[in-house]
Amino acid sequence: MKILIIEDEERLARSIAKGFSTENFTVDLAFDGEEGQRLARTNEYDCIILDLMLPKISGLNILRTLRAHNILTPVIILTARGAVEDKIEGLEIGADDYIAKPFSFDELLARVKALVRRASLQPKFLQVGDLKLNPKDFTVIRNNKPINLSRTEFRILEFLLLHRNTILSESRIIEYVWNDDRNINSNVIAAHIKNLRRKIDKAFPDSKPLIKTVRGLGYKISDDEA
Ligand code: CA
Repeated sequence: MKILIIEDEERLARSIAKGFSTENFTVDLAFDGEEGQRLARTNEYDCIILDLMLPKISGLNILRTLRAHNILTPVIILTARGAVEDKIEGLEIGADDYIAKPFSFDELLARVKALVRRASLQPKFLQVGDLKLNPKDFTVIRNNKPINLSRTEFRILEFLLLHRNTILSESRIIEYVWNDDRNINSNVIAAHIKNLRRKIDKAFPDSKPLIKTVRGLGYKISDDEA
């Protein structure tokens, strides 16, 4: 079990770290937001304990960045007592739990263990029907057969799967895949979707087609009929 603690009160951070080490966790420590974000993006952790008020980059901004990069590590935020808005915003951005300062170590430990347990029960891949995409090793399989996609095709498919059964407009796809590049237009997306269809649907004539064009609105992935 490996956790990251991002907390600028060094004494508190070290005492939490010591507690987790005693419980046989491996602990990385960061005392500012920049270092914390760097560690969170480069290493794999089972859980991140994230203070909100941090030098350089705030806890909420770190959380935003992680979730925007599809890093779904469980995060428990440390909030000041009574900072209800921070707590709500944190949960909305994608924190999994929060604990108000001051807290007892035993309570923090119990919460972290619960989060890690919950995360371990969740599938590590995105799926619709018999199509599975693994965001960690960039593999896609359908009906147990591997499918080779370009990086752009992979990102589009990933976005569709993150919002399966939902119609996604071209502008949302451009925002996710090309970071809002204004040179990308409908024709470019249509060409990539055509390639994805060929590799994912047409190559599997015995399975249901998954990628749907919703005229005038966008695209979606779904294994429903129609
Ligand atoms: Ca702080």
